[in-house]
Amino acid sequence: MFEVFFAAISSPDYAHVAVPAATEQAMSYYHSGNVLWILQWAWSLIIPLLFLATGFSGKLGTFAEKYGKKWFFSTSLYLILFVAIYQLLNLPLDFYASYVREHEYGLSTQTLSRWLDSYGKWTLVIMLSTVAFVWIFYLLIKKSPLRWWLYSWLVSIGIAFIMMFINPIWIDPLFNDVGPMKDKQLEQQLLNLASRAGIDDGRIFEVDKSKDTKMGNAYVAGLGNTKRIVIWDTSIKGNDLDGILFIMGHEMGHYVLSHNWLLMGYFSIIAFVISNLTYRTANFLLARYQKRFGFNHLSDIASTPLLLFLISFFILLSNPIFHYFSRYMEREADRFGIEINQNNKAAAKLFADAVHEHMANPRPGIIYKIWRSHHPSLGDRVDFCNSYCPWEKGQSLKYGQYFRLDEDQRKSIQ
Ligand SMILES: [Zn+2]
Repeated sequence: MFEVFFAAISSPDYAHVAVPAATEQAMSYYHSGNVLWILQWAWSLIIPLLFLATGFSGKLGTFAEKYGKKWFFSTSLYLILFVAIYQLLNLPLDFYASYVREHEYGLSTQTLSRWLDSYGKWTLVIMLSTVAFVWIFYLLIKKSPLRWWLYSWLVSIGIAFIMMFINPIWIDPLFNDVGPMKDKQLEQQLLNLASRAGIDDGRIFEVDKSKDTKMGNAYVAGLGNTKRIVIWDTSIKGNDLDGILFIMGHEMGHYVLSHNWLLMGYFSIIAFVISNLTYRTANFLLARYQKRFGFNHLSDIASTPLLLFLISFFILLSNPIFHYFSRYMEREADRFGIEINQNNKAAAKLFADAVHEHMANPRPGIIYKIWRSHHPSLGDRVDFCNSYCPWEKGQSLKYGQYFRLDEDQRKSIQ
């Protein structure tokens, strides 16, 4: 604590950008957002419990068996019906959270028909991927009642790879137009930056998010030859060149430091633990409540809500670890963005502006940080961008080995 205090008073601010105070409306968005977060998590756990406790899942399983006849078809029929009912039960809260509320606070630009269109497509994506993959887990439970959790863990890693690989080419384009950058001059400036970061194949794309929101963002998606950096058009319109260069410097940090692989590493570890815990608790609960559930074996497709409940619950419990890990990657991407651009003021200003743009609380409380923050708070990010300046202190850059020097820099060294 004292170290933090002394660091704060002794390290000079190189950029002097102040952190704006949250407006009253932003604080209301923050507080109501926390209540909504609790409600959404509670509801996502209550729905599968309702399926189980009412015996409805057991009846749905019997129905699917009667009409599906063969194992694969009855499994698929159950899953299609389950996803459809699950999404219907989620619809009111989802509609409020992502449409009504965002419009109330003036953050959304989405039309109702576009929201409905996206929700329908999203439901179809969930349905298709559920039918495509979930049967594998049930086959494993059936064939190997004691080891299925281990094999399921391996399969889940394979599925995560597939989903990460196809996401930018098959899934993202269903919802938005993702294509080459429209502003060719800006594109060239970003490609120059990418080349300095050691990224040569020009994988910079633009997505038309202004149809959905006023907020800006950018991200890295894909694996191997589908890997790319995508910037929202809202970020291009809402920032000056220096701000955009920092955003892209940050994303190039994720790209060059292979954060997608780190993410896969994290997923592999956490999926192993969750898979094992699910195996232990599912059998315990089934032995106790099978009468109420209306099915006797975990290999019965009617156990889907039981597995879903347990996996969701363990994911919720593991969220603080994930958020900690994610904040670490974001801080390092910020560091990369600052080091490659060496423009602290532009970086700090970008996050200061984001306080208004995202209607954010720049200094959220500790509980929020632990449970909800996958990025450092905007206040922390402004502070970091103001003060992180190793070249001013004659220190070497942490990520300097990744940067290619341009002609001028090369000459100045020679
Ligand atoms: Zn990031």
